Amino acid sequence: MGECVFCKIIRKEIPSTIYLENEKVIAIKDINPAAPVHVLIIPKEHIENVKDINENNGEILVDIHLAANKVADELGISQKGYRLITNVGKDAGQTVFHLHYHLLGGMEMGEKII
Ligand code: 5GP
Ligand code: ZN
Repeated sequence: MGECVFCKIIRKEIPSTIYLENEKVIAIKDINPAAPVHVLIIPKEHIENVKDINENNGEILVDIHLAANKVADELGISQKGYRLITNVGKDAGQTVFHLHYHLLGGMEMGEKII
């Protein structure tokens, strides 16, 4: 956990552009955006990915979705639409093993982009 890049961002040891932060989650701009709007919604608790979600920690998914809704509203993409994606494991292309959702919008996404 100490070396996890998102834990470092949460502890402000690595700078990031923050769109929303509360007790449970942080929403930051992706460093390598794949769309005009590319936000990462990250729980502050270090959970590897959604396969580690269970009865005890599952409420965090509500907090993540509430944060995604708020950021999508604030960035003006709610009406036209957006994608909310989470990669689970190596074959899915997960590179940071701290749960996060990609909020992608600001363009038409006919094909899979991430
Ligand atoms: P994954 O491939 O694990 O689903 O997504 C990880 C995402 O984290 C990638 O889109 C990557 O650009 C982003 N990322 C990796 N390191 C950093 C960083 O230090 N700062 C920010 N803001 N994003 C990062
Ligand atoms: Zn972490």
